Amino acid sequence: MSPPIVDLTHTLHSRIPIYPGDPPFASSCATCVPKDGYAVAALSLGSHSGTHIDAPAHFLVNARTVDQLALDELVGRAVVLDLTSIASEKKAISKAELEEALERTWLQAAENREQMPMLLIHTGWSRYWDSEDKKKYYAHPFLSRGAAEYILELGFKVLGVDTLSPDETRLEDEEEGDEDAFIVHMKILGADGIIAENLTNLGVLGDGDGWMVHLVPLKIESCDGSPVRAFATRD
Ligand SMILES: [Zn+2]
Repeated sequence: MSPPIVDLTHTLHSRIPIYPGDPPFASSCATCVPKDGYAVAALSLGSHSGTHIDAPAHFLVNARTVDQLALDELVGRAVVLDLTSIASEKKAISKAELEEALERTWLQAAENREQMPMLLIHTGWSRYWDSEDKKKYYAHPFLSRGAAEYILELGFKVLGVDTLSPDETRLEDEEEGDEDAFIVHMKILGADGIIAENLTNLGVLGDGDGWMVHLVPLKIESCDGSPVRAFATRD
């Protein structure tokens, strides 16, 4: 029996892996109980710190920002896809691999399947979140252009991954990105969809559907993204 609520969120602290070039996360005491009688923390962070969502405005001008996303887009039924058996360092997941995994679980299982808004991709990469070797977390598997187009064809509005990005992450010492460098972001956000990154514990959800997933951001005016407390409840 699965637990009734599954936490899909990494804890924020100063050692978390940050997307190359993004501001670091810091939390310090602005006031503290022994000195001031009460504690207030001063937080400093990028909008894409830790487990978070990307609003369409992350990559597009005149697109929706986090404060403009409706709550019913951020709480919804999800299909969880277990791709752990094919996930490896820097692997591009193809449309055919996505199709095969979806057919094995969701497409075949439910002939009259109801359209679901969210697709969560479980690669198992969250196990490297806290690893000493940060490069391991950055060398995550990612989706191909064809896979992103297929996700949209199936009608999903929210894509969640347990990696730093659904696109390949390139470090400074790696070659410059080609035109497909941010293709998954461009496709999903370009369709006015939402991306959730750095999820964890997707393995607890198993393969298939039956979960309501909650990805509610802070309501920050005109902001391109926000950390979320992501969790799943039984549908
Ligand atoms: Zn992001």
